[in-house]
Amino acid sequence: MRYSAFKVFLQGLTGNKGWQPMWREPEPKAEYDVVIIGGGGHGLATAYYLAKEFGISNIAVVEKGWIGSGNVGRNTTIIRSNYMLPGNEPFYELSLRLWEGLEQEFNYNAMISQRSILNIYHSDAQRDQFVRRANAMLLAGADAEMADADQLRKELPFLDFDNSRFPIKGGMFQRRGGTVRHDAVAWGYARGADSHGVDIIQNCEVTGINIENGTCQGVQTSRGIIKAKKVAVCVAGLSGRVMSYAGMRLPIESHVLQAFVTEGLKPVIPGVITFGAGHFYVSQSDKGGLVFGGDIDGYNTYAQRGNLPVVEDVAESGMAIMPMIGRARLLRSWGGVMDMSMDGSPFIDKTHIDGLYFNGGWCYGGFKATPASGYCYAHLLAKDVPHSTATEFRLDRFRRGHLIDEKGQGAQPNLH
Ligand SMILES: Cc1cc2nc3c(=O)[nH]c(=O)nc-3n(C[C@H](O)[C@H](O)[C@H](O)COP(=O)(O)OP(=O)(O)OC[C@H]3O[C@@H](n4cnc5c(N)ncnc54)[C@H](O)[C@@H]3O)c2cc1C
Repeated sequence: MRYSAFKVFLQGLTGNKGWQPMWREPEPKAEYDVVIIGGGGHGLATAYYLAKEFGISNIAVVEKGWIGSGNVGRNTTIIRSNYMLPGNEPFYELSLRLWEGLEQEFNYNAMISQRSILNIYHSDAQRDQFVRRANAMLLAGADAEMADADQLRKELPFLDFDNSRFPIKGGMFQRRGGTVRHDAVAWGYARGADSHGVDIIQNCEVTGINIENGTCQGVQTSRGIIKAKKVAVCVAGLSGRVMSYAGMRLPIESHVLQAFVTEGLKPVIPGVITFGAGHFYVSQSDKGGLVFGGDIDGYNTYAQRGNLPVVEDVAESGMAIMPMIGRARLLRSWGGVMDMSMDGSPFIDKTHIDGLYFNGGWCYGGFKATPASGYCYAHLLAKDVPHSTATEFRLDRFRRGHLIDEKGQGAQPNLH
């Protein structure tokens, strides 16, 4: 069923009785060409592009809960491509370009809103770092724009420019950055994949990976064995657990990341704003809530809820750049389990086991990567060679010493 303004009008006249389910609820078949483990944004996007762009549609996406129950429905919805390193920037720019045409492509309103992202700086040295980053972005074909404090005072007068600890000296804009309604992305990709014949199997947990003579044969699930020529793991925070079914240990730790939303307010924050002297970022949702977050809780866990020290830290950081936020009442907070890699960059790679592929290590930046991750993973699954923008996301890069350490923090997942 194609959606259009005319359809909405027509359904309104006929009691909204003609809408169809967005995807089927099929029983799992005995065998598929590709089984994708994990019905988050990345798994669904992979299925969609495999079917649409690479002509492989005998696919199952196997999800232990329901579509959108993981991080794709828990993140703070920010999209951007303001990366610096060669292994990262072309990939994230590809992703931003795919976001730009996505709603028309899969005929679904994901509320993509390119209302800009601003990274604030607080010192001359930090300005120099951002100038370097902006130049790297421009060289990779992305957009970037430096703004001094006078310009920011005009655009964002509510910021605390003269804070005695963290005076605001300027910032770097990426005007094409912004926000997207996160769960609509999962639903849009699910609907698109289903329309190309992909089976989306919810409430089906993978409990084992069958390997014989070094070749992956399929998966064991809570609904029986499913054979597959290729198995593609895509389970974000549970990467370590699922890959342990294949006897693999990953350079990844699981941590919880919290997010917060306030009561609805009149429009006050035009785009996304990030603090330069700590971890705090904020945007305003279409319903008016201020959506913000900060650092991960610094301990390993699979719990989808965090603790108070991070709440305090996030609140302090917010108050440092916009004291008015202290007047807003917090409505909700929640958490999601992050697959933190040792250098802060992801993996899209084959494993040493024939037919077993891995996508993960997205840390807290994987939502913006959803379209490119799906596209590049589909490319790898279909052709067995990495996509040209994802050649560096290899599992063996630590052994080779080719880290993609965007922040220069070293092998400290809690600092990326
Ligand atoms: C609070 C928060 C804020 C964030 N903010 C941003 C942001 O602003 N911008 C950004 O770019 N990124 C952000 N992220 C990160 C981003 O959400 C993730 O990196 C990304 O969503 C991960 O990919 P995914 O969508 O496929 O994950 P998920 O949606 O978690 O999908 C993985 C799926 O695998 C399923 N699964 C796990 N184990 C099994 C199994 N054994 N069998 C079957 N299924 C299984 C899970 O149920 C889950 O649905 C944020 C994350 C959080 C938690």
